[in-house]
Amino acid sequence: MREPNNPLHLDTLLLHGDVGDDVSIVPPIYYSATFRAEDASAFAEMANTPRHSRYYTRYGNPVHDRVAAILAQLEGTDTALLTGAGMGAISTAVLALVSAGDHVVAQTRHYMSTTKLFDEVLPRFGVTVTLVEQTNVEAIAAAIQDNTRLIMLETPANPTLQLTDLSAIADIAKQNGILTIADNTLASPVNQQPHHLGIDIVVHSATKYLGGHHDITAGVICCNHELGEKIWSMHTTLGSVLSPMDAWLLLRGLRTLSVRVERINQNALALANWLAVHPLIESVYYPGLTSHPQHELAKRQMSGFGAVIAFAVKGGYQETSQFVSNVKLATHAVSLGGVDSLLVHTAAMWSGTMNEEQMKAANIPPNFVRMSVGLEHIQDLQADLDRALRLSQPQ
Ligand SMILES: *Cc1c(COP(=O)(O)O)cnc(C)c1O
Repeated sequence: MREPNNPLHLDTLLLHGDVGDDVSIVPPIYYSATFRAEDASAFAEMANTPRHSRYYTRYGNPVHDRVAAILAQLEGTDTALLTGAGMGAISTAVLALVSAGDHVVAQTRHYMSTTKLFDEVLPRFGVTVTLVEQTNVEAIAAAIQDNTRLIMLETPANPTLQLTDLSAIADIAKQNGILTIADNTLASPVNQQPHHLGIDIVVHSATKYLGGHHDITAGVICCNHELGEKIWSMHTTLGSVLSPMDAWLLLRGLRTLSVRVERINQNALALANWLAVHPLIESVYYPGLTSHPQHELAKRQMSGFGAVIAFAVKGGYQETSQFVSNVKLATHAVSLGGVDSLLVHTAAMWSGTMNEEQMKAANIPPNFVRMSVGLEHIQDLQADLDRALRLSQPQ
């Protein structure tokens, strides 16, 4: 375990933050749903110990333990719990902590399925929710009621990478005895550690930077022991279990997390600066740019600014559609934080249900692109985007 006064650096923790009792450097994959007990008393102990890692894989698994040990130390929490997807982490943590009659404060902008949890699912079970503009700390404070149990945060958030002031809101929550959860997916623990800023529970879609190779879906919940046991208990009921194979792939991905994220930070910042002065780009949103309205906050709570850049192409839906079709290196696909650059035309996701007018009304600009910058050489990415931008304009 990490000594608080003698902490290892993050790069070292990724390699040595887990401890195994096996002889191999790389752990075996315990591809087993269940585990044998030596005798009757050992069985009784396995069955009655919370979070036992060798009882039944929905309850725990030795590979999960190794990955969780690293993730807890990265986020500075006592413990971590793995789930089968980021949404499994978010829904399990939230459902473990709220009951009918409780109130939750969340942001107007969250990952789409998280918004659905707060907008549609919780109200069905008698939990009321107030959604507040995340950049307005006073409005979040003002939304607190006597029965507020939880404040849910996500920073940076899509689509234009707005930030939430984590330490300011953690202070307000603590004064009111309210728990806080932060979705730290877009930042990664390399760039931002919400628990060190006072947030109680940190969740991630480990599908993104933590796995990092676009091959698994996974989630993680980082918190103290007491909350960890409570959330684990709900987890055994909801059953968002990560397969031992995918936990092993997550561990393999984690070994290189810091080098990947550092290079991604460099590439994305360079690309954002380049896009900002490109004649065929209307606007660029990236927390690392001095033009970002919350750049000062970004510098205060983040040590790097991550993969995701949002930008608007000169023109409308048609030109933007042409542009994304012409891009060759960045793959036209959702997700973020992995080794490959990915990009999506944001409005295209809604084109089945809304026309251009309706999208404008819903604040989805027709010329908006979200890109997750990967590990390709920056000059190759620039050349490719430049060619695609020129081809996108009417001849
Ligand atoms: C992807 C994502 C999720 C959901 O994670 P899954 O692994 O796809 O379930 C939640 N929050 C954020 C910010 C995400 O980017």
